[in-house]
Amino acid sequence: MPNPGDKVKVILKDRAIEGALIPNEETDSLVIKLKSGYNVGIEKSKVQKIEVLMEHKAKEPVREKPKFKPGLPTISILHTGGTIASKVDYETGGVIARFEPEELLANYPELFKIANIKSRLVSKMFSEDMRFGHYKLMIKAIEDEIKAGADGIILTHGTDTLGYTSAALAFALENLPIPIILVGAQRSSDRGSNDAAMNLICAANFITKTDFAGVAICMHETSEDTSAAILPACKTRKLHTSRRDAFRAVNDTIIAKVDFKTHKVAFVAKGYEKKAAKPDAKKNFAARPNFEEKVAILKCHPNMFPEQFSFFKDYKGLVIEGTGLGQAPTGVPNELCKIHEENFKAIEEVIKSGTVVVMCSQCIFGKVHMHVYSNAINLANIGVIPGEDMLSETAFIKLAWLLGNYNDKDEIKSFMGKNLRGEINERLLLDDANLGRTLPSMKG
Ligand code: ASP
Repeated sequence: MPNPGDKVKVILKDRAIEGALIPNEETDSLVIKLKSGYNVGIEKSKVQKIEVLMEHKAKEPVREKPKFKPGLPTISILHTGGTIASKVDYETGGVIARFEPEELLANYPELFKIANIKSRLVSKMFSEDMRFGHYKLMIKAIEDEIKAGADGIILTHGTDTLGYTSAALAFALENLPIPIILVGAQRSSDRGSNDAAMNLICAANFITKTDFAGVAICMHETSEDTSAAILPACKTRKLHTSRRDAFRAVNDTIIAKVDFKTHKVAFVAKGYEKKAAKPDAKKNFAARPNFEEKVAILKCHPNMFPEQFSFFKDYKGLVIEGTGLGQAPTGVPNELCKIHEENFKAIEEVIKSGTVVVMCSQCIFGKVHMHVYSNAINLANIGVIPGEDMLSETAFIKLAWLLGNYNDKDEIKSFMGKNLRGEINERLLLDDANLGRTLPSMKG
């Protein structure tokens, strides 16, 4: 029997198919990657013979250590996994192998001209599997690298939950003396359309050429390989499943843009965290890595039942993603809505049980105003806290972090409505022109 990756000729009764054998444990078919790039499945019972045309040989990864260059700043690259650290095995077609950090970086020799690069593996995973425990690992690794004298840190990460992690790091790391830039990729690092190279190189240039200190994200600004956007840690969302410019600032502007060719950085945000403003940062830097585990987000939708809310009685915190200005289905305008009385009672019970309940909007843009519609007014009256213009995922991380680090409930509730790390935009204007600038145009 041939091995995955072997070039084979499969002889059937009436024809022969040539291509690379793809591993397939799920079904009882042979899967062959054709020259055209398409895969075909062939029922094993129909195969008369398989000839091996060429055996597949696994390539040895490149592991070269570049020399330390005195005078260059040091960037530590912490790897957590994600598409940026994955590759498609074109010979077998389907296998996603994971790059080792050294192997990944060997693909981007330009990085080593910008800085001395140290690299360290924190985890090898897709970001949809991240848990708060992983944030702790990242925080510990960042602390170690800062102690060891890094001038900046790039954290490579899967794109799916990158925005949650950037918010978690922003809350947990107080008085950061250096930049921590999260970088992901929508296409794996070995593809022609790969976006990792530009994102990594722009992040490294941003770190070495500016006085920024704090957490931010570096991803494609447009779908072209021309510039990267440096995005705010607590106000950025992945707004597209596959586009390379999927990450957009919501209710805020980007911090800066980095030109890929000229390496020039242009700041867009009026104010940003500067190293110069923190002369004692190294001394004052502190990590508070605790996150309360029992916190959740609940999205409102038509036809909700009380048990959907009361489920969270045993939780310490709940972010409700309400409709519009911050409503939940709690009103009884007619008989069909009778059950909404129970929804309201259920939320009240959850609050009475000690859960901190915060309201965000599923609208994405704009802020909640809980004094306009009666449903929201009634919720505010029983203690639901308005989440202002926070993304619900940022509010979720903030709530988990506050509950993990503070004991006083009143203090936690009051912090939820205050801007601590740029998560609430106090300058958010109600004019549409301002919103228009942050609204993405994503037709592709
Ligand atoms: N599912 C992947 C992840 O978030 C997608 C990516 O890396 O871009 O890890």
